[in-house]
Amino acid sequence: MKIYDFLIIGAGSAGCSAAYFLHKDGKSVALVDREGIAGGASGAAGAFLSPLPGQKNIYNSLVNNALDFSLDFYQELLPQAVDKKGVLRVANDNFDEDKLSQNSIKYDYFDTKQLHDISKNFRDIEGYFYENAAVIEPIQICNKLTDGCDFYKIDVEKLIFENGFYMLENIKAKNVILAQGVSSSLVEIPYMKIAPIFGLRIDVKTTTKVPFNVHKSISISTNKQDGTLSIGATHERHDNEKMECLTTCDKCSFYVKGDEAQIKTLLKQADELIKLDDLEVLKSYKGARATIKSYFPVIGKVVDYKSTLKKYPSIKNGTKIPPEDLDYFQNLYLINALGSRGFVFGPYLAKILTQNILHNKPIPQEISTGKLFYKMARKGKL
Ligand SMILES: Cc1cc2nc3c(=O)[nH]c(=O)nc-3n(C[C@H](O)[C@H](O)[C@H](O)COP(=O)(O)OP(=O)(O)OC[C@H]3O[C@@H](n4cnc5c(N)ncnc54)[C@H](O)[C@@H]3O)c2cc1C
Repeated sequence: MKIYDFLIIGAGSAGCSAAYFLHKDGKSVALVDREGIAGGASGAAGAFLSPLPGQKNIYNSLVNNALDFSLDFYQELLPQAVDKKGVLRVANDNFDEDKLSQNSIKYDYFDTKQLHDISKNFRDIEGYFYENAAVIEPIQICNKLTDGCDFYKIDVEKLIFENGFYMLENIKAKNVILAQGVSSSLVEIPYMKIAPIFGLRIDVKTTTKVPFNVHKSISISTNKQDGTLSIGATHERHDNEKMECLTTCDKCSFYVKGDEAQIKTLLKQADELIKLDDLEVLKSYKGARATIKSYFPVIGKVVDYKSTLKKYPSIKNGTKIPPEDLDYFQNLYLINALGSRGFVFGPYLAKILTQNILHNKPIPQEISTGKLFYKMARKGKL
């Protein structure tokens, strides 16, 4: 039996980042995943890191603060896995010209001629260039984050808590962090209703030099250090009535169905932005990002919603009970709902979470488990 300070379930961007900061703070960490390191959404990710334009609000401030932190963090952690050449954003229905131009982030506007001067392969497009953007190698990054931690390939079926310790095979740990992405949670957390958004990424070879990342409704990366490019897109949100999640994602028919047509569509969309000469598809990846309705990520102690509501049923009517009076599962924490920006949020949120656990530093309300619990309880959803 090996005893650890922390057991982390899920070795994606969230779990690996948490492992990094705990290890750095002198804690012993066991990291567990049924697939391997970055075997879930994190291994499939693009992985583009871009600012979120638009007039300043709580959400885009969170994203842009996380981006500043995480970009510097990755460059220091593993510079060879980071290509920071900026991103050109082309207006689309979600982000029109107004949104791209009226924002708090610095940009340069490139018209069609300027873009043709940069590369004759650009189609007749124009866009807004943001310097603070990159593409990273997600698997290399996740592996590096886990240096100094022990990894176990285990499919965890349930959490066992005995005499103040969580027990899993030969592992005994005082604290557990759930970083499970879209998989069914090991503890009932109905106030965090995760909806998977499926996505596809392809890696391609081309003789075209792409000077920076290009984003419209899909993203094309600049040439990475091995010369290849990644192209990625979000496909289908999985929370509508006709497609209810009853299984874990790897057993879902949407997830496993063939992707030839999807690759074709992706390449067509890429071709509308830039002509990629001598194109060869090397590999495709599929995965599901975990989101909640508000798109905010969630971190913190796991609220025992049943015992809390039994003790304070009037929470449902809006009675204010301070967060410290809620019931929490003992030494159990979570980091999830990183959405389409798992590599932007990963290190930033993991640092806030681990500082909270180890040094009692506060978690901003908008991303806390407590805030989400109150919101769902008051809406009558629990
Ligand atoms: C195609 C695609 C493109 C994307 N592009 C980008 C991008 O450009 N930029 C960006 O920032 N983000 C991107 N994302 C999103 C990003 O990948 C996710 O937000 C991020 O990977 C989430 O990390 P995570 O650690 O929360 O989840 P995951 O990486 O899914 O990790 C969760 C892990 O938990 C494990 N697990 C769960 N339950 C158990 C259990 N009971 N026992 C054992 N193991 C368990 C799973 O096997 C999994 O490996 C993309 C995602 C996809 C799918």
